[in-house]
Amino acid sequence: MDPNCGPRICIYSEDNVEKLINNARVCNVCYEARPEVLFDCRCCAISYCSIAHRFQDEHHMLHGCDYLYDCAMANWYLRKHHQLHIPDCLLNEANINDGLQFEKVAKIPKYSSEKWLETIVNLVNERLAFPLTIHHALKKMGVGEQEKSLSELTSLTIHIVHHTPMCDPRMWEFFLHQLPNLIELNLTFISQELKLYNKYNSRISVERCSDCKSKQRIITYNIQQPMHYHEYFSSNDYVQPDVVAVFDVDNELMISSKLSPSDKSNPVPLFGNLKALQAEIDKEMADSFTSFRNMTYIKHTIVILIDYSEKIIEDCVKSFHDARPINVLSPVQKNPFCGFSRFRGPQGVCCNKNKYLCTIQGKH
Ligand SMILES: [Zn+2]
Ligand SMILES: [Zn+2]
Ligand SMILES: [Zn+2]
Ligand SMILES: [Zn+2]
Ligand SMILES: [Zn+2]
Repeated sequence: MDPNCGPRICIYSEDNVEKLINNARVCNVCYEARPEVLFDCRCCAISYCSIAHRFQDEHHMLHGCDYLYDCAMANWYLRKHHQLHIPDCLLNEANINDGLQFEKVAKIPKYSSEKWLETIVNLVNERLAFPLTIHHALKKMGVGEQEKSLSELTSLTIHIVHHTPMCDPRMWEFFLHQLPNLIELNLTFISQELKLYNKYNSRISVERCSDCKSKQRIITYNIQQPMHYHEYFSSNDYVQPDVVAVFDVDNELMISSKLSPSDKSNPVPLFGNLKALQAEIDKEMADSFTSFRNMTYIKHTIVILIDYSEKIIEDCVKSFHDARPINVLSPVQKNPFCGFSRFRGPQGVCCNKNKYLCTIQGKH
C-alpha cells in the first residue's frame, strides 16, 4: 500500500486542539516527537518519523488504518456533501440488541448498490453507541422509582455527562421506537467542556416521525452551558435523573488524577505557578467530590461509567464510594456497542473510548 495515496483529511479542527495537546503527536514506532520530522498517516490517527517506520508498523496497516481512514472520509463527506447521507429509513433496520448489521443491510436491494454502505453502517453504529450502550447497561435492571424494566417504562430521564453531546434526534428516536411503551424521553447534557457543535450535530432537525407524532411521544433536550455536574445540580434547571451516563469518565470526572503528583506521600515543594496548579487541582478534586455525591443523591438513580480503561473506571468507583457509599450493580465489563472512535491514549497506544462500562447506585 502506498502511504501517500488517497486524499488527506484534516481532522485537527479548533475543537481538536486540546486533544492534540493532551495526546502528543509522536512516531507510532519509536515515539520520536520532533514535529518537523513527523508526518501523519493518511488516516490522521497515527504519525511517523520516517517512511521506514511507517512500513514497519504492520499492525496499524493491517488492523486499523483502512477502517479509520474510511470512517474519517465518510464523516468528512457526510458533512461537506449532502448527496451522501444516512438514508432516512436505514435506522429501521437497526435493533437495540445488535445495532445495525452490515450483513443484513447489504442484502436489502435499495441499499446494496450504495458505494459507502459499510462505512455509513459504521458511522450509524458510532452514533448509536450512546443509546445502545445505555440500553445494554440497563437491560437486566429495574429502572426508575418503581424499578421497572426498560420495556415497561413510560418515561425516562437521562443525564448524559460528555463533552460531545449526541443531539442527532434520529438516534434517540430509534431508542423510542425500540421501547414502544416509552412515550417521554428527557435528555440533559452536562459537561464542563460541552461542545454543542460537533461532528454528530451538523444538521439537526427535531421533527418526530409520523408514528411518534400520532402516539404523542416526546423527546426533550436540555443542553446546559459548560459546567460541572454539581453546578447543574444546584441550579434551577436540575431535574431528578433515573440514569446518569458518564461517557469518557477520565476526562469528565478524573481530571485531577492526571494532574496531581503521583507520589502523594512525598510531595515536592511548590512555588509560584506550581502553587497555583496545586490550588487548581484541589478545586477540581472538591468539584468532583461534590459531583460524585450529587450523582448518587437520588436513591433510584443508576450511574453508568464508560471509558477506555478498566483501571480508570475502578478508580472512579472508589472515588464515588469515598464521597457516598455505593453499590456496584454490575462490575466493569466490555461494552459491545463501543463504536469505532479511537484516540491516542497513554504511551501512544490507540484506545477505544467506550470500551468498558460499569453501573453503580448510591447506598441510601
Ligand atoms: Zn519512528
Ligand atoms: Zn493510518
Ligand atoms: Zn418515531
Ligand atoms: Zn476517557
Ligand atoms: Zn473545574
